[in-house]
Order: sequence, then C-alpha cells, then structure tokens
Amino acid sequence: MNQAEWYPQINQDRCISCGDCITQCPEDALGQQNGKAALVYPERCAYCSHCEDICPSNAIELPFLIVMKHHKREGV
Ligand code: SF4
Ligand code: SF4
Repeated sequence: MNQAEWYPQINQDRCISCGDCITQCPEDALGQQNGKAALVYPERCAYCSHCEDICPSNAIELPFLIVMKHHKREGV
C-alpha cells in the first residue's frame, strides 16, 4: 500500500454531495471536485476520522482504522 492510500478514501459513487464532511473537517482538508467531496488538501488531514463518522452515506473510509479493527477482531 503506498502512502496515498493511507488517506481517507472517498467513494464518489456513494457520495450524495451533502457537504457535511467538507464543513465539519477540523483541518479544512476536504473540498468539492466535480460536485463530490474530495480530499483536496491531503497534507492537512490529521486522520481524526470525523469525516468517516459523520458521512450519512458511508462514503468515507480510513484504511488505517480498517486494519486496526481487523487486528482487534483477530485478537492481535
Ligand atoms: S480524517 Fe479528519 S482531518 Fe482528515 S479529512 Fe477527515 S475530518 Fe478532515
Ligand atoms: S459527508 Fe459523505 S455524502 Fe456528504 S459530502 Fe462528504 S462524502 Fe459526500
């Protein structure tokens, strides 16, 4: 996995363009591209997972947290 894949991943097919993640990101890392949410300033992202938590359509995933959850489930 290269470094870019460790940023929040936004599934633009799922995004309903509500704008919540953009207005609520504490680091102003998100913006709109082609009418959908996008990580326009990845260097600002603090990996807080707030965008993943509040997205109403589950369009955002943080890969690192998925790995951690998996390890937790496996008891590692
Ligand atoms: S993880 Fe936090 S800092 Fe990064 S884009 Fe989402 S809300 Fe913003
Ligand atoms: S919160 Fe989810 S649905 Fe709303 S703009 Fe962000 S990615 Fe799209």
